[in-house]
Amino acid sequence: MSKSEELINLLIQNKLITDEQLIAIKKLPEYGKNSEEAFIKSGLVDAEDLIKLKAKVYNLNYYSLIGVKIPDQVLNLIPVEVAENYKIVCFEIAQDKMKVGIVDPENFKAIEAIDFLAKEENLQPEYFLISALSLEIALKHYKTLGKEVSIALKTKEEEDVLERASKKINQEEVEEVTKSAPVSKIVSVIIRHAVEGRASDIHIEPMQTETRIRYRIDGILHTSLILPKSVHRAIVGRIKVLANLKLDETRIPQDGRIRVNINNKEIDLRISIMPLLDEEKVVVRILDITMGAPTLEELGFMGAGLKVIKKNLVKTDGMFLITGPTGSGKSTTLFSILTDLNKEDINISTLEDPVEYFVKGANQSQVKPEIGFTFASGLRSLLRQDPDIVMVGEIRDNETAELGIHAGLTGHFVLSTLHTNDALGAIPRLLDMAVEPFLLGSTLNIVLAQRLGRKICEYCKAEYKLPENIIAEIKKELTAMPLATIKEMMPDFDFKKLKFYKGKGCVRCGGVGYKGRIALVEVLDVNDKIKEMIMSNKANFTFDDLVKNQNFITMKQDGIIKALLGLTTMEEVLRTVHV
Ligand SMILES: [Zn+2]
Repeated sequence: MSKSEELINLLIQNKLITDEQLIAIKKLPEYGKNSEEAFIKSGLVDAEDLIKLKAKVYNLNYYSLIGVKIPDQVLNLIPVEVAENYKIVCFEIAQDKMKVGIVDPENFKAIEAIDFLAKEENLQPEYFLISALSLEIALKHYKTLGKEVSIALKTKEEEDVLERASKKINQEEVEEVTKSAPVSKIVSVIIRHAVEGRASDIHIEPMQTETRIRYRIDGILHTSLILPKSVHRAIVGRIKVLANLKLDETRIPQDGRIRVNINNKEIDLRISIMPLLDEEKVVVRILDITMGAPTLEELGFMGAGLKVIKKNLVKTDGMFLITGPTGSGKSTTLFSILTDLNKEDINISTLEDPVEYFVKGANQSQVKPEIGFTFASGLRSLLRQDPDIVMVGEIRDNETAELGIHAGLTGHFVLSTLHTNDALGAIPRLLDMAVEPFLLGSTLNIVLAQRLGRKICEYCKAEYKLPENIIAEIKKELTAMPLATIKEMMPDFDFKKLKFYKGKGCVRCGGVGYKGRIALVEVLDVNDKIKEMIMSNKANFTFDDLVKNQNFITMKQDGIIKALLGLTTMEEVLRTVHV
């Protein structure tokens, strides 16, 4: 029995058609060329039901992509041309399985193409039979940001709107423009693409003749879209409307927020609008508030440093400090630590600027310096709220420093951040803030310093050679490090066999060679010896003193080991850690 005869038998067995209907369908002109087509055309059989039965004939699983949103990085495992040509679509990656929908199970070339692509990605292919409609829907997902926006821009309505927006228009007309379908479509597409592309920020910038949309992904800005300048005012207006900001105010900066739901995730958008010389610039910070905290291990903490952190997390008083410039990942580390410390019987109270992550059950406050609710005044009040753990976003002034130290001395676990280049720098900085050496020595427990380096994409990682002068510099650093600390991070470390890696670029990392980020850290254990040095005002100790005191390694040294482990590249280490 041929496959199509088997299918017809199944249709009759399953009572999807009667014998009479079959006779009628067989008379259709399409039947000779493509019997399946004839069944669907007849309107007697539902196309998806037919494909379900066909899957049985071919011993395949059936899958429907109707209403399914495929993540870009999964979809792009099969290039659009290949997908269109072979009628195949990758719709899911589960562990090492690459799930691919196929329309024609007899197209051997299509199977061959899938096998080849799966092997490239080190995945096991799993085939599912999908309908032509499923394929069509999936192919639509290939539409890029630019394509989607240009479709919105092309509509007739948009032309009219733009023409009016670029002229001087009154308040009512501005509101009308921002509500127009193409403008709201453009704004929502820009936001959705940013979220799907893992961007942390969106910059909407007026240029001389155009509007530039840039996304910050893994800490680096990428230009994602260039739009005609005429659309700028309408886009800014639309964002203002969504964020409840004043549409007619274009002279002073404005801040607001928008809550959106994208792919069933609650996303918080922090909007900042700044007037430039001609037009306003918008920066949107994207905060995924449903996202759980990464663990310290996931953030890249390991070895001796991680042990020192864990030892300090069980303390109930004293001060835990994280240092580093803006964008060094301090907030994420704080969030991870707070989530770890968060227990039913503990009161966590925070003062933040802004609240970037939500810790379930913690009492989080956002400071508002413009109305006198500062870190210092907030801390004073917060200490009357019976906290066990206090998190102060940042120590910026003497008063906050003094209050923080006091809180740490009086039985509170105090977490905060400080703007210094390295961990050691925290001590002189706090002493500069007029903190008594004796109090600082008895309160300070640990200082972390960190930077974020981009992580090599695991799917296109390859070994490569570094220039000799860089190797020489690396060897110098490695020689200065305690071997035990290196071995703890990298058990098979061999000074004679130094290997380095980088990403070649593939579909999963968008050709960049990097995906995600990793913390490069140094951890200063303020142990008794160090405490004694601080109290006796001998706090100007050096790296050498530290190495003699504990297995201390610098952020750069930590980065070198992480480069040797293939987690990041030496370029990233040198780019992010300036010593
Ligand atoms: Zn890659």
